[in-house]
Amino acid sequence: MSTHLYERSHVLHTRAKELMPGGVNSPVRSGKAVGAEPVTLAYGSGAWVTDVDGNQYVDYVLSWGPLVLGHAHEKVRMALHAAVDTGTSFGFPTEAENELAEFVIKAVPSMERVRFVSSGTEAVMSALRLARAASGREVILKCSGCYHGHTDSLLVSAGSGAASLGIPSSPGVGQAVASGTLVVPYNDADAVGAMFEAHPGRIAAMILEPVAGNMGLVPPQPGYLQKVRDLCTKHGVLLIFDEVMCGFRVALGGAQALYGVSPDLTCLGKVIGGGLPCAAYGGRADLMRQISPEGPVYQAGTLSGNPLAMAGGLATLRELFKPGVQEGLARNATHLAEGLAAEAARAGVPVAATSLGSMLGLFFTAGEGKQVVRWENDAARCRTDRYAVFWRSMRDHGVLLAPAQFESWFISTRHDEKEIQHTLRAARAAFAEAAKI
Ligand SMILES: *Cc1c(COP(=O)(O)O)cnc(C)c1O
Repeated sequence: MSTHLYERSHVLHTRAKELMPGGVNSPVRSGKAVGAEPVTLAYGSGAWVTDVDGNQYVDYVLSWGPLVLGHAHEKVRMALHAAVDTGTSFGFPTEAENELAEFVIKAVPSMERVRFVSSGTEAVMSALRLARAASGREVILKCSGCYHGHTDSLLVSAGSGAASLGIPSSPGVGQAVASGTLVVPYNDADAVGAMFEAHPGRIAAMILEPVAGNMGLVPPQPGYLQKVRDLCTKHGVLLIFDEVMCGFRVALGGAQALYGVSPDLTCLGKVIGGGLPCAAYGGRADLMRQISPEGPVYQAGTLSGNPLAMAGGLATLRELFKPGVQEGLARNATHLAEGLAAEAARAGVPVAATSLGSMLGLFFTAGEGKQVVRWENDAARCRTDRYAVFWRSMRDHGVLLAPAQFESWFISTRHDEKEIQHTLRAARAAFAEAAKI
């Protein structure tokens, strides 16, 4: 389709590039990975968004996960209006903080105490500081391919081989900071054990996404999380589940409820704010008591527990936790994943399509058919060129996907049969395009 469809987006993006790096305030939005310019959005309603040229799309980005009720849900809007009318920030306690804290502690099995912050990055950064302080150790173990926000010490990926010491993934991350991070492949418990053996008494915490969503959707292999839990216990290493993405998505109590494995600390974000800047970390009471002012570990925030964020989060979680809602989301996600797999097979394009709760993954595999993607080396072999063609065709047919292969898809309670059928019709055309290359 011709570019005049996106003319106003193009004009705005051209201007944006003179004002902001890449014309965006977060890099993946730029569309670089799919060879496209971003569409500039004007408004959203339910499962749909409309761009500044008037094009409408079924949205599977949903603000990169938070909008589990879709755009501008009536209950969320009402709660936000009420909060706006009574003051947008105080820097003193409000009742809404108690309400959201009670909700979260009740929902997430291992959470005995919680502290609210404003972004997932901040939650992770704070949890790591606490883990270092509580253990008296310095080193953090992470999995390559797991994303934990842009905090310095975790902008590190594997070098060659599992045992490599951290190498910064970004200029500006000092070698001293990076070398305090060790990296193992995801879904490989033996590598975790080997790393613990190789660095006795040095590792403060292991952090991972219990369901990986930032390399595309890669669920844990059966038994993996329990093995990691046992290894951490044996070696005195704190286990941190980064459930910023998968919490309230794969199950109401997060991956820890789904798989019955308890971390020491948990990070939450995205859905917990319902589209407002809100995140949290929490866990065992004896650990959380070490946070200032109860304990010596300093962590603070001018806008932490912000009334709008609390209102957005509470309204969202109250709807999500109504009977049958989570089951409906999971049913629709399965239905969509199966439909996508069928359309791909029809076009002769090898893919691996999976869903878990309200998250989906679609990998354009390198030709082995319906192979299961287990960790990032599998993911890295995917046909990103095909994804780019698929993405542009889906956009042209009114479906907005994350502009990069290695991202999860999200559905909301407003993605119904109508939206799924619209998506599968678009996918039929898009897979046919992708099959040509
Ligand atoms: C999005 C995400 C983060 C970072 O959250 P921000 O709010 O973008 O800082 C951290 N961890 C995981 C697993 C995420 O998906």
